[in-house]
Amino acid sequence: MSQTIAPVLGEATVQDLREAVRGEILTPADAAYAEAARVWNGAHDGHRPALVVRCSGAADVIAAVGFARGNDLPIAVRGGGHSIAGFSTCDGGVVIDLSRMTEVRVDPVARRATVGGGAVWADVDHETQAHGLATTGGLISTTGVAGFTLGGGIGWTMRKFGLACDNLAAADVVTADGRLVHASETENADLLWGLRGGGGNFGIVTQFELDLHPLGPIVYAGPIFYPADAAGDLLRAFRNWAGTAPGEITGLVDLTTAPPLPVIPEEWHGKKVVAFIAASTGPVDEGEALVRTLREVAEPIADLLGPMPYGVIQTLIDPLWEKGIHAYFKATNLARLDDELIDRLRKLHLAAPGPQCEIHVHQMGGAVARVAEDATAFSDRSMPFVLNAVTGWRDEGAGAAHRDWARAVISAASDASTGRAYVNFLGDAGAGRTSYGGAAYDRLVLLKDDYDPTNVFRLNQNVQPSAAAA
Ligand SMILES: Cc1cc2nc3c(=O)[nH]c(=O)nc-3n(C[C@H](O)[C@H](O)[C@H](O)COP(=O)(O)OP(=O)(O)OC[C@H]3O[C@@H](n4cnc5c(N)ncnc54)[C@H](O)[C@@H]3O)c2cc1C
Repeated sequence: MSQTIAPVLGEATVQDLREAVRGEILTPADAAYAEAARVWNGAHDGHRPALVVRCSGAADVIAAVGFARGNDLPIAVRGGGHSIAGFSTCDGGVVIDLSRMTEVRVDPVARRATVGGGAVWADVDHETQAHGLATTGGLISTTGVAGFTLGGGIGWTMRKFGLACDNLAAADVVTADGRLVHASETENADLLWGLRGGGGNFGIVTQFELDLHPLGPIVYAGPIFYPADAAGDLLRAFRNWAGTAPGEITGLVDLTTAPPLPVIPEEWHGKKVVAFIAASTGPVDEGEALVRTLREVAEPIADLLGPMPYGVIQTLIDPLWEKGIHAYFKATNLARLDDELIDRLRKLHLAAPGPQCEIHVHQMGGAVARVAEDATAFSDRSMPFVLNAVTGWRDEGAGAAHRDWARAVISAASDASTGRAYVNFLGDAGAGRTSYGGAAYDRLVLLKDDYDPTNVFRLNQNVQPSAAAA
């Protein structure tokens, strides 16, 4: 938490900006400032931006960038505000907040959605499902389309439809020098490459164009909960199943604690459990056959895997991750899920310091792996699994124990890791070259030199331009 006090800006300059924008500008003098300065992650609350500009459109974004640069102030860009590392707030700078820019328009014939730069996945799912369409979104519906898609985007439909960034067909971007440029396969294609995994390094996306696919309204999806002592058997069965399962299904094993939900027998509430969660994009009546082997692992505590509305699986765990919770994640890409690692994960699960300490093992492959390594900035595509240590806590004093535990989970996997990590699952800044890998990172630096040579957009998993690195 930061104690820095926001600098006093000349009211004349702020007044100029007020006249230039149609959205809202909040300074520490405004009653609504405290709420506007809050981010989703309580662990990053307490920062004091000089102002929050709630933009109404691209013109406001251009004005805000110009104002910040003219006053030599740092810029934090906010889409859904879910950054685990706290990138969408700052001290003494300008928060360019796109959370009012949530419009989603669907072209059902072209199977394409245009999505405002501040929309969250609930906005997209709501509009696209009205047409029986969907695209890969997050496991939580309040996560922003922007940060999620620009970093990569792991979701329930990825093994059939690709990552979110693979469905990014085009974008409108406000650059560091205040231009509004379009990026697509035929226009500024280099920029589109960078937006597909390179994060917010190259500008502020005011509008996304996302490819859509037929899906729903009913899909075969949901969780099966088992006692914690089935974790080893489940992870081994999951490893074997994952290698042969068709792209229609995407699965996840979650070593967690049973939440106090009515669908879970009360005697299990608060106890360590392991869940297999999956979603199929295929025919509903073929879903059961796809997951049968994972049903035979042990006697379940609760089996909720079956036909359900797509909108339900997309919002199922929202109540556990409400705004204000403190959160820290740490992740690594796995080259293998061997018996030694399974044993270490099983033990770390039992040693977790709180009920929202979860070990996620995501099944990758399918459509994710079919995209060429150099086709997008998201470049580590051959890994069969992604390991994510997810923690959330409400008592401020519990942060150190949660962070230490998450780091221990990822350290335990070091010999099974590809050495790379998915940037959106990292709670610490400075992921850089290690996460992207040398070749992709070198290309990202060249793109950064073109679009943001003075590193105006640096509150992100930062790609340092050559001038800064020299
Ligand atoms: C509860 C929770 C669940 C999650 N689940 C998943 C999941 O299922 N799959 C997954 O892949 N990830 C998941 N994530 C991680 C998520 O993808 C990242 O936190 C992502 O960055 C959030 O995007 P946002 O727009 O909400 O965040 P923000 O905090 O608004 O922004 C994140 C980053 O993107 C930049 N940015 C934001 N908007 C723009 C814009 N319009 N233009 C340019 N840059 C912008 C910001 O400056 C910042 O650097 C989850 C995170 C949380 C907290």
